Amino acid sequence: MNHQYIPYGRQEITENDIDEVIEVLKSDFLTQGPKVPLFEQTVAKYLGVNFAIALNSATSALHVACLALGLGENDYLWTSPNTFVASANCGLYCGAKIDFVDIDADTYNLCPIELERKLKLAKIHNKLPKIVIPVHFAGQSCDMKKIKELSLEYGFKIIEDASHAIGGKYLGLPVGGCQYSDITVFSFHPVKIITTAEGGVATTNDKKLAQKMEILRSHGITRDESFMTKESDGGWYYQQVSLGFNYRMTEMQAALGISQFKRLDEYVAARHVLQTRYDELLSELPIKIPKQTLSSYSALHLYPIQIEFQSIGKSKKQIFDELRDLGIGVNVHYIPVHTQPFYEELGFKLGDFPNSENYYSRVISIPIYQSMTFEMQDQVISALKRVLQS
Ligand SMILES: *Cc1c(COP(=O)(O)O)cnc(C)c1O
Repeated sequence: MNHQYIPYGRQEITENDIDEVIEVLKSDFLTQGPKVPLFEQTVAKYLGVNFAIALNSATSALHVACLALGLGENDYLWTSPNTFVASANCGLYCGAKIDFVDIDADTYNLCPIELERKLKLAKIHNKLPKIVIPVHFAGQSCDMKKIKELSLEYGFKIIEDASHAIGGKYLGLPVGGCQYSDITVFSFHPVKIITTAEGGVATTNDKKLAQKMEILRSHGITRDESFMTKESDGGWYYQQVSLGFNYRMTEMQAALGISQFKRLDEYVAARHVLQTRYDELLSELPIKIPKQTLSSYSALHLYPIQIEFQSIGKSKKQIFDELRDLGIGVNVHYIPVHTQPFYEELGFKLGDFPNSENYYSRVISIPIYQSMTFEMQDQVISALKRVLQS
């Protein structure tokens, strides 16, 4: 059989996407032009949120979000161990201390019960977090209602890491509307739902936070006299008011984003068709499929399956390699962040967050993306059957 390699995720670029980028290349502005604000308006309108700030990555978005919320030395930031390292690194960039809240064994998201237990303890020891970052793993929203309740009781801020979740909903409303958080962050890396190559967005309903993030994105510099501490010298004048960065998105990226955004709903719907089909066709295999909660309409960035490797008599590495050899681009999401050597140096160790570790020992992400055909999906399923049953 002459099959093509099927990655776990892949962007789709249309002729219209290409035309829009080329148009920018021929225009006057490659950066700091009209496309970035237009992209921001597109995103904000779709999500029903007051402000959207485009950045060159979700990692940058997480960083400026933490700074805008005043995270600094002696503060704690808590997140899920079942995430990409960026969700925790942003706290370290600000000099804060990191801790993790173990996941729920069914949703693989930060567990609100565990969060409450940990908050009670932290209160006694005077170590309450300043920021909690729930991560909407695989595109499925965390229990934001409960997390928001806890934030009011214990006084922490919330940044939703929705890198997987653009196009998803929670309790009927788009993730990113910030009904239950201070700031929400999205990623447009090519493996995510829609892409700007590299790129991210931070959304908020709070004007002050939006202004802070906007200034931090561009060197901490402003041309707006209302932010200046001394009088303008003239029309050329700008003033640095904080220590910012160059985290700007380019015009080409924004143009690609605007064009991609038009197909967002279609993309998420296509992922749902694939998910339903996987759920059915994988039901007879010795695996656990990902649970979909009623409160969430997942963006379905990932389709992680859990395998009892001991009972099938093969190791995870063996199954992974066999699937790769059959042209299936499986991957693993995620190595628990606290088990990374860099985090072990900070004092974390294996055993600290057992749900995320157990999950990791069993999980493999199988391919799911909008342009994946049923034929490709059948190829994935038959490869899985072959390696699990041989
Ligand atoms: C991809 C991802 C990020 C980082 O996104 P970039 O845009 O690549 O910086 C952060 N958090 C999670 C959960 C991600 O999946």
